[in-house]
Amino acid sequence: MRESLNNKRVRMQLILDRLYETYPNSHCSLEHRSPFQLLISTMLSAQCTDERVNKVTPELFKFYPTAAVMAGASVEHLAELVRSTGFFNSKSRNMSACAITLLEEHGGEVPADLDALVKLPGVGRKTANVVLSTAFQIPGLVVDTHVIRISNLLRMTDEKDAVKIELELQKIIDREHWVMFTHLIIDHGRAVCVARRPQCHECVLAEYCPSVLPEEAIKKK
Ligand code: SF4
Repeated sequence: MRESLNNKRVRMQLILDRLYETYPNSHCSLEHRSPFQLLISTMLSAQCTDERVNKVTPELFKFYPTAAVMAGASVEHLAELVRSTGFFNSKSRNMSACAITLLEEHGGEVPADLDALVKLPGVGRKTANVVLSTAFQIPGLVVDTHVIRISNLLRMTDEKDAVKIELELQKIIDREHWVMFTHLIIDHGRAVCVARRPQCHECVLAEYCPSVLPEEAIKKK
């Protein structure tokens, strides 16, 4: 039988309570000093860990701290600075085009608006939501690979498409928790509900999770 929306909302609140208790210091792990730096760091985090991004951004932002300065950078120099984050050719082209567009169309500032953000070169809905929620405190529900995987395991959704999941979760989670939901799920996905080997035996969500594995099954994995 399909779980009602109301049931999911109640179950989600219990899950959130547990996650808040378990990860009291949960936050965006990308280091930044401005909305522009967060935008660039988030673009760099595609197919790369936040840890790796945090290793390259101090040097990158030493050279190019703002959109106005980065707009004058050569794509080759940007590529050299972000090489270790992977896909550096497309990332550097996007960073350059994005900085130029910000300068030409937004006076060098990052717009606090979803529609304007997704029109920037290299900026998708996920990146836009990270910037809105973290830099501008505008509630945005970021759906990354951890959120897709764990929302499915928790049976909050059976969708695989990030935008459809975002819209479904918006109905299940109160707006005030949208930003923290993503941070908490990412922490849980890194610490316990890891992709290849969910540690269900030590999971604080086990009693609310329909995908919980019995202990014997975990040992065999
Ligand atoms: S019980 Fe297992 S599958 Fe469910 S959230 Fe926890 S670790 Fe993941």
